[in-house]
Formats: sequence, structure tokens, C-alpha cells
Amino acid sequence: MSTLKLKHKVAVITGGNSGIGLVTAHLFREEGASVVIIGRNEETLERARRELGGDTLAIQADVSRLDDIQRVMRQVGDHFGRIDILFANAGISECPPIQETDDAFFDHIMGINVKGVFFAFTQALPLLTQDASVIFTSSVAHERGRPGDPLYSASKAAVRSLARTLAADEEVLSRGIRVNVVSPGAIYTPLTANQDTYAMLEAVNSYVAETVPMKRWGQPEEVARSVLFLASSDSSYMTGGEIAIDGGLGQI
Ligand code: NAP
Repeated sequence: MSTLKLKHKVAVITGGNSGIGLVTAHLFREEGASVVIIGRNEETLERARRELGGDTLAIQADVSRLDDIQRVMRQVGDHFGRIDILFANAGISECPPIQETDDAFFDHIMGINVKGVFFAFTQALPLLTQDASVIFTSSVAHERGRPGDPLYSASKAAVRSLARTLAADEEVLSRGIRVNVVSPGAIYTPLTANQDTYAMLEAVNSYVAETVPMKRWGQPEEVARSVLFLASSDSSYMTGGEIAIDGGLGQI
């Protein structure tokens, strides 16, 4: 049931055309916000824009490119004039074997997962309103070893660290802006469900059943509800912090 916690708010969501970002965009719309969704895929962006309805803005952009992020923020500024909520959520999880990882791949994953979050924040800053809420998507991987996948884990640890330091920035604090993190565990989205082969999906399903204390996948709605909490004034005394939505995985 909608409580209109975000009535008249303007929310910008990177990766708002799929998975956790899209489900969060729907929840924000139900709660009365206008949303701006950002992604690279024009087809899924347009589909999401139509589904979300209202004055939703869908902007095609690559968050690893600073010039793209600057263009996005100019468009948001021209259209809405402000940002009340920034959900810097876009990310990828790809892992070539470490011996085959070249510097182009290193730049690719860090460019999207780290640079994309940092510059979404800095470029949104001039538009952020008094008491705005910023949420980054990290991962349970930031606090656990993840054999075979060092760069994803390192990128998500960087995101967790960025939130701590940015939340304590003097300008940010003086403007009442809060910066927090959601750290999902195994959430069933295109990122995790679209495995190359059925055998790989089976292997991931077994990992979830055997390793996650709650023995099941999380759903994107379960992450979106925590994002809503952090986006709203319900979390008004919380900054630099984190909510783990991981079925207990980060605690073992
Ligand atoms: P998803 O459905 O694949 O969503 C990823 C989103 O990021 C898509 O909307 C994608 O849109 C966007 N994106 C990727 N690269 C981009 C780029 N260069 N520029 C702009 N947008 C880009 O996966 P998800 O599970 O919802 O993932 C959302 C976030 O949660 C990610 O940061 C991920 O690391 C994190 N996470 C997920 C899980 C999980 O189990 N699912 C667990 C922990 C953390 P385009 O493809 O159109 O660019």
C-alpha cells in the first residue's frame, strides 16, 4: 500500500532500466516521486519509461563516461531543476579468469562500478536539494572474499568506502545531504539469472541454496524497500551507513 513517502520528490536512478534499479523506480513512482532512469540500452529504457508513466525521463548514457554523466545532469537540471534522491546503482558483474584480465577490462569494470558512482555523485551535487538522500549500490562482495572475481569485490569495496567519506564531507553535511549504501547478496535479477548456460545457472542456484543462511534468492523488491527507507526521511539520522539485504550471507 502506497504511503506517498516521496511525494513531489525527484529521483535519479542509474541502472533504472533493469533489475534492482527498475523495481526501485516503480516503488518510488508508487510513493509519489518523479523518476529519471539512466542506462545504455535504449530499448529497455523506452520500455521502462512507458511502464513507469507520468513525467518519467529516460536518458541513454554510459555512466563510465564523465561527459555522458554531465549531459544527464544538464538534462535533469533543465527538466526538473533539482534532485532530491540520487540512487547510483548501475553496475556490472563480469569476471574473466584473472590471468586473462587485461588493463582494458580493469578499466571497464572500475569505470562503471566505481567511476560511474563517484561522478554521478559529484555531477549531481550542484542539483541536490537541502536534505537530499544519496544511495549507492555496493554488494555483500565488498566484505567477503570472492575467489575468481577480485575486481568486482574490489570495485564494490570502493563504493562502500566512497559513501563513508563523502557522507562526512563538510559541504555535504552542511547541506543536510545523507549518503548511504545498500549491499545486496544474491538477488534474482537479469544480472544473476542470465547465465551463459543452464549448467552455470544450476551452479549459482546450488551456491545460493548451500551458502546463503536463508537458503534462497533475494528478490529485487526486497532491496527496493531498503532503498526507499534510505531515500525517505524515515532514515533521517543515518549517513555513511549501510543496509545489507543478503539473507545473512555477510555475517558468516
Ligand atoms: P541488472 O538487472 O543487470 O542491472 C544493471 C543496471 O546497470 C542495468 O540497468 C544496466 O543498464 C545498468 N548499467 C550497467 N552498465 C552501465 C553503464 N556503463 N552505464 C549506464 N548504466 C549501466 O542487475 P542488478 O542485479 O539489478 O544490478 C544492480 C546493481 O546491484 C549493480 O550495481 C550490481 O553490482 C548490484 N548487485 C547486484 C546483486 C545481485 O545479486 N543481483 C548483488 C549485489 C550487488 P544497461 O545495460 O542498459 O546499461
